[in-house]
Amino acid sequence: MTIPNTKILLSGPGRAKLVHDKTASKLIPLLDIAACGICATDRKGFWAPPGSMRLPLVPGHEFCGTLLTTGKRVVIWPAISCGQCSLCHQGQANLCEEIQLFGLHLDGGYQHHFSLPSALADKAIFIEIPPGLNWQQACMAEPFGCVIHSLAMITQPPESVCIYGAGLMGTLAARLIEHQWPQCQIEVRDPDPARQKLFVQNHPQNQVELVFLACSDPAAVSDGLAHLKPGGHMLLFSGLNRDDNPLHLDYNRIHRLEQTLHGSYGCLPADMERALDLMAKESVVVDDLITKVINLEQVPEALKKPASSSEFKTIIRNRN
Ligand SMILES: [Zn+2]
Ligand SMILES: [Zn+2]
Repeated sequence: MTIPNTKILLSGPGRAKLVHDKTASKLIPLLDIAACGICATDRKGFWAPPGSMRLPLVPGHEFCGTLLTTGKRVVIWPAISCGQCSLCHQGQANLCEEIQLFGLHLDGGYQHHFSLPSALADKAIFIEIPPGLNWQQACMAEPFGCVIHSLAMITQPPESVCIYGAGLMGTLAARLIEHQWPQCQIEVRDPDPARQKLFVQNHPQNQVELVFLACSDPAAVSDGLAHLKPGGHMLLFSGLNRDDNPLHLDYNRIHRLEQTLHGSYGCLPADMERALDLMAKESVVVDDLITKVINLEQVPEALKKPASSSEFKTIIRNRN
């Protein structure tokens, strides 16, 4: 079936261009894409595509639009897992070893129309957008879902938390903590004073029960552990920059103080559903974090520029 498509094609480090595709495709068309978020990992992948990235490729994993079959407004879970392995069966599809991620292994959301090979077409997971949310807000379901996924590992409401990194993810974590644990004292640490100022609630604390790592600096891990109370928990939400300083862990301190480190990676469809509900029904506000809306033509330039400290989330919008 031939659907003319306009897309951003990444072909190598620093090389992305707008392509008008008129050729017949064997893929199954599924979704008219309305909007797609630009993730920090998209910017990293633009300059240094990871070895696992299939090139050329359409980037983007935070997208939403209208289903061609039903006309429903949906966001997409950003991956296809095998559905067969023990992790998939145990409800941990985000850890599936055969997982294929949009914008990494499969074409993603920087395009007008989303299609998949016929073998994968019925494996994509779509989540309906509740009434009242616009396309930009719906694009936040994935990043917010990742934060929800991570904080769900903490079953006892903590009295104090320190968040390292006041970017989009750290800010979303602060919003969720304020919402679900209103008694919790929040401290946010970020080397950028402009970003720190954005937090109304910022309580410096010596020792905290929970550390949320939303930055890629290994020094934050050691610092976080030094401020973690006995029995405390640390959420390893961000990956670390491999080329930075090596990581130093005080193993014996973790051992002696019975502290728990939780790895946290991506999200599940239920986390994205929860994110949509929090925005639509429980009035958790994210609109002020959507700092820029652009169109597909502007994407190659936008990827080249590093995000400024006042920029949280840029959304590519194809239509209203
Ligand atoms: Zn993302
Ligand atoms: Zn699997």
